[in-house]
Amino acid sequence: MRDFEGELAQRKQAGLYRTRRQISGPQQPVLTSDGKPLLSFCSNDYLGLANHPANIEALRNALPETGLGGASSHLICGHHDAHHQLEQRLARFTGRSSALFFSTGYMANMGVISALAGRGDTIFSDRLNHASIIDGCILSRAKVRRYAHGDMAELEAMLAQTSGHKLVVTDGVFSMDGDVARLKELARVCRTHDALLVVDDAHGIGVLGPQGRGSVAEQGMSEEDVPVLIGTLGKAVGTSGAFVAGSSVLIDYLVQKARTYIYTTAMPPAIATATCASIDLIERDDERRQHLRELVAVFREQASAMGYELMPSETPIQPIMVGNNWSALELSRALEERGFLVIAIRPPTVPAGEARLRVTLSAAHSKSDLDRLLRALSECRHLLAEPDIAV
Ligand SMILES: *Cc1c(COP(=O)(O)O)cnc(C)c1O
Repeated sequence: MRDFEGELAQRKQAGLYRTRRQISGPQQPVLTSDGKPLLSFCSNDYLGLANHPANIEALRNALPETGLGGASSHLICGHHDAHHQLEQRLARFTGRSSALFFSTGYMANMGVISALAGRGDTIFSDRLNHASIIDGCILSRAKVRRYAHGDMAELEAMLAQTSGHKLVVTDGVFSMDGDVARLKELARVCRTHDALLVVDDAHGIGVLGPQGRGSVAEQGMSEEDVPVLIGTLGKAVGTSGAFVAGSSVLIDYLVQKARTYIYTTAMPPAIATATCASIDLIERDDERRQHLRELVAVFREQASAMGYELMPSETPIQPIMVGNNWSALELSRALEERGFLVIAIRPPTVPAGEARLRVTLSAAHSKSDLDRLLRALSECRHLLAEPDIAV
């Protein structure tokens, strides 16, 4: 018998033990945890839409029409008008011909990657890609080659050595670093070597690009450059689920082949209706994105002036590099004592020796929320060893 208790004890010793914090009330900057308020800087609700009255009202209004449960898979009798309308809305939003609504981003990546590549094919994957991409690659049974983060030269060399069907997959915005993939170059390399490019823009949709259309649109690219675009709806969009957008042939193919689409119960249709309302808000509301960009700029300027080591990120994901697991936990704990919730991210979510505090900013934060965080960070600065960069 495997020694589960022993393995848990080992994790605790290595500073890798994970616990779940219980919160009550809606997702918003001030969370209630154990009855006490904490100002959170770790949510992916980048636009503050998870608790937006217009989306909640859309959900409430939809319920008498749609009922609650999904009741069946899409291919039996679960494919509701509301799902169909969301798919059309997402296609329009992303400038693609068609879209397919999945229950989660994890399932979208598992289903899409394993549908588009199989035994005998090769998948090329950035080393910092999200866990759901890694798992999708494993599920596909294709050969997987991982290239160093953002290393186009290495990717191109690997592609040149490989024959057969090739798929390149990347995060649009890297979830733990916050940097944006070099999509123009990726698209060029893929075109040259006849590889299919898949971009998972979980953290770009809603946040980046004109009207929040994501990192692909921000870099001026279309369906021709990025034929397979994945996005999630539980982060900036503030509801739940995910989508794949592309040509109608691609979507038709996925309906036949994506097992995580076929063999699961349809999402409650009212969620799809609320998601349409949220997309409307996202398209209209440039002010949220503008405010968010301003918060990001202030955070970067002031935190780096304190001598914190930041990552080359212009997105709302602004990790503070720490290195050691225990130091990351200690900094997180010190911030919590001051009323802030910023979670330490440790291996295997990030590479060993690269533990960090993943600070995320949201349009729902006020300038004074950020000022308070910065003051606390300044008080806690002594907890970290001197970083490499000059103070
Ligand atoms: C969060 C995330 C996912 C998973 O999406 P869920 O809808 O939360 O399952 C997929 N890819 C990336 C890059 C992510 O950050």
